[in-house]
Amino acid sequence: MTVGAQTLERAAEVPAYRCHRVEVLRTTRLSPSFLRVTFGGEELSGFADKGFDQRIKVILPLPGGGITPLGDGDDWYQRWRALPEELRNPIRTYTARAVRPGSRELDVDFVLHGETGPASRWATHVSPGDRVVVVGPNAAHPGPVGGQEWAPPAGAAHLLLAGDETAVPAIATIVESLPGSVRATALLEVPEAADALPLDVRPGVNVTWLPREGARHGDLLIPAVRDVLSTLVAPDGTVAEAPLEDVDVDEEILWEVPESPEPSGSSASSNGGGLYAWLAGEAGMVKLLRRHLVQEAGIDRSSVAFMGYWRLGRSESA
Ligand SMILES: Cc1cc2nc3c(=O)[nH]c(=O)nc-3n(C[C@H](O)[C@H](O)[C@H](O)COP(=O)(O)OP(=O)(O)OC[C@H]3O[C@@H](n4cnc5c(N)ncnc54)[C@H](O)[C@@H]3O)c2cc1C
Repeated sequence: MTVGAQTLERAAEVPAYRCHRVEVLRTTRLSPSFLRVTFGGEELSGFADKGFDQRIKVILPLPGGGITPLGDGDDWYQRWRALPEELRNPIRTYTARAVRPGSRELDVDFVLHGETGPASRWATHVSPGDRVVVVGPNAAHPGPVGGQEWAPPAGAAHLLLAGDETAVPAIATIVESLPGSVRATALLEVPEAADALPLDVRPGVNVTWLPREGARHGDLLIPAVRDVLSTLVAPDGTVAEAPLEDVDVDEEILWEVPESPEPSGSSASSNGGGLYAWLAGEAGMVKLLRRHLVQEAGIDRSSVAFMGYWRLGRSESA
């Protein structure tokens, strides 16, 4: 057997994502809308620290407080689906804001949007000692673990990151990891001015906070993205290569990420001179941004990642 075959066999045996039983160590109120929950637990020693926009699933307690065990394998989701409804815990998607495997800690920044959903409700009342299960990347998995969409082509001339408050943890983690040589613009729409969080970024990374202060989702972000594009995209790069099919964000998930981004420079005239864009947040808003970038500004679809993180008026269905 070759080494490659052994690795493949091991990859099949060791799940890429696994359940980690954790408890709340502490909470930190970062701002009116953001609560950082620091989880701890022995099982976090095996939680992979992949950075960027690494997504995780948080399995929340049932109203009575219980969490139905789902085992340690990668069939956790099938097991969850097979449960009777009364034993099926709510599951929601979040971002690993910081992972400290050495001290067995994980930070997750929760947007507090009231008591309308199980995750926000849980975060509103959380106390040290509370337990959840976090499904996250497994450090023991020999291959790629997935769960990340940030994939700029090597040498992209400019990086554009735009999102609402739910994308702040991902964008913050990404921009804090960018080297000084990179030119990047981050536009972050948040509920209020006090939600502008301090970020540790290098020169060349420009961060703008856009406090909504009661305006609708996207009212500030969409024009801000347009303004940035008008300075980045050449007037001759205005035609999208392929027509953009419509996405009904109430019926389908808005999630379009380039599979293998072209190296920047190869299509400079159609992608704004090596622009790579990453956009996430409320799905209706992201749909409008997508239309603007691809259809109106003519940005090459292989240079953009669009992600509907949540949908106004809809619960996340696991
Ligand atoms: C890859 C990914 C990463 C994410 N990372 C984060 C993260 O790090 N931090 C974070 O806070 N969120 C994050 N989200 C968004 C989060 O999953 C959703 O906001 C989720 O719906 C919250 O669940 P809930 O139980 O509170 O509300 P749900 O039960 O899903 O929804 C209940 C109601 O609340 C509304 N709602 C949901 N979210 C919001 C919101 N933010 N503001 C106002 N109304 C809302 C819904 O429209 C619905 O009407 C991420 C989503 C994805 C897909």
